[in-house]
Amino acid sequence: MIITIDGPAGSGKSTAARKLAARLGIAYLDTGAMYRAIALRALEHGVRLTDVEALVKTALEADIEVICGPTFTRVMLDGRDVTEAIRSMAVNAATSYVAREQRIRDLLVKRQREIGARLGSLVTEGRDQGSVVFPHADLKFFVDASIEKRAERRHQEMLADGENVTYDEILANLRERDGNDAHQWAPLLEPATAIHLDTTRLTIHEVVEKMLEVIQRQKSSAN
Ligand code: C5P
Repeated sequence: MIITIDGPAGSGKSTAARKLAARLGIAYLDTGAMYRAIALRALEHGVRLTDVEALVKTALEADIEVICGPTFTRVMLDGRDVTEAIRSMAVNAATSYVAREQRIRDLLVKRQREIGARLGSLVTEGRDQGSVVFPHADLKFFVDASIEKRAERRHQEMLADGENVTYDEILANLRERDGNDAHQWAPLLEPATAIHLDTTRLTIHEVVEKMLEVIQRQKSSAN
């Protein structure tokens, strides 16, 4: 069973995807982590973010391995665990340069489909999973929340990770990412068949419970 969860930055999709996968006992794939790993590689190798050819080269050379378990994803870059390193503000800012390059997207979409084919069942999360990567997914969710709520959640996450960052900086970063993300290079498309969940007033627990209800309903109607 392939379940896709798409939505804007900070909508709660990562936590919901991780917890949903854990409840279902299937793997969880964080596709944003793959874009982030390439951004980290570019920063570490001194690649100019506006040098598209150099960015594509660093993406092609990158040995990215995503280890998907039901309660965790570990991201390996060139044999090194970068799971934490890809969460910094510097990587946040660099990732949109990576994500806007179609050749890099094609490479990662191919890898994501390979992971899906290999695992058979997974909860995969990103911005194009239901629309582009797995158009035939068994179930598609689209999660959204107000920008203030999304900034608040991101802020808490970053503080917990020990990042020294203010709420206002996060809000500005999200505004910019929403703007960049709205460009045609990777439009955040809500698939017509997706189930829309506004998570502004929901706890993560409630979001996951709602998703499980939908899955249960779908199973009952299939029987
Ligand atoms: O989900 P996360 O915040 O880790 O994603 C980081 C960035 O990677 C997003 O803002 C987006 O620009 C890009 N991304 C993407 N397609 C995906 C996942 C992430 O373009 N499937």
